[in-house]
Amino acid sequence: MGRAVVTGAAGFLGSHLCDRLLAEGHEVVGIDNLVTGSISNIDHIRSEKFTFIKQDVTDYLFIRGGVDFVLHFASPASPVDYLALPIQTLKVGALGSHKTLGLAREKGARHLLASTSEVYGDPEIHPQPETYWGNVNPIGPRGVYDEAKRFAEAMSMAYQRYHKMETRIVRIFNTYGPRMRLEDGRVVPNFIGQALRGEPITVYGEGSQTRSFCFVTDLVDGIYRLLMSKETEPVNIGTEFELSILEFARLIIRLSDSSSEIVYKELPVDDPKTRRPDNTKAKTKLGWEPQVELEEGLARTINFFREKVK
Ligand code: UDP
Repeated sequence: MGRAVVTGAAGFLGSHLCDRLLAEGHEVVGIDNLVTGSISNIDHIRSEKFTFIKQDVTDYLFIRGGVDFVLHFASPASPVDYLALPIQTLKVGALGSHKTLGLAREKGARHLLASTSEVYGDPEIHPQPETYWGNVNPIGPRGVYDEAKRFAEAMSMAYQRYHKMETRIVRIFNTYGPRMRLEDGRVVPNFIGQALRGEPITVYGEGSQTRSFCFVTDLVDGIYRLLMSKETEPVNIGTEFELSILEFARLIIRLSDSSSEIVYKELPVDDPKTRRPDNTKAKTKLGWEPQVELEEGLARTINFFREKVK
């Protein structure tokens, strides 16, 4: 068992990752500046094996003692958040990756970067294999997230090649589950919040754009397998079950027994038209398969949001 540093520990993914690392018997140091994360996500972790440090990871990171793993999960992650925090998003992806790689190098630790399907931008290849280089608009509003993550991948590979460090890169596709922020603007909390309140469901564009949704515990399982594997190049983690946003809206209405109607709003700039991972690599190299069916995962997520909407 080892000692892991998790940045973004109080966020949606970071907190689930801490849960898994602790369950596997590791010691965890969680770091978060609480810009989009929340202490309530880690309140339940009361253990001598968990330490929390409130810090911005773009500043110098000082951690006392040995570290075996550094997992960089800090970043605004919803389009609404990163449009509101464009400079912080660029900084945490770029400077924060440099700091966490530097920490890992200092400690002789393995580094795992939370990258994203956004490195593929609005993809011209479908589904997206890891070998695809992407179609990203560097100067569009989403560029702050996409390019920061692309830079982070390049930085990670440079540390691997130049400093001979152990690095891992996970490309995370749309993920959902408990602890998402109701107000984060992403499609899952938006639609569920609207359905539970009986408000109109806001489909952007015609709703023909597609996404594939993965339940958070499945994603975290893929990440843990990658962390422990020998795979040094990026791996997609996401489900291959793809549906249109309009179909997704209808599914949320049905699963939450809602009487909400659907309304159509303007499609955000550079909104990807399709997105589905080719997850062959995760299957063959990590032995990973998603376990939670979409309807089951959504039912659990709707239950979580019911408490919040009250
Ligand atoms: N979307 C929508 N209504 C909403 C929020 C999002 O139709 O209230 C759409 C959005 O335009 C995108 C998809 O749902 O096509 C997924 O959006 P999200 O913000 O969750 O993340 P993305 O996959 O775009 O990074």
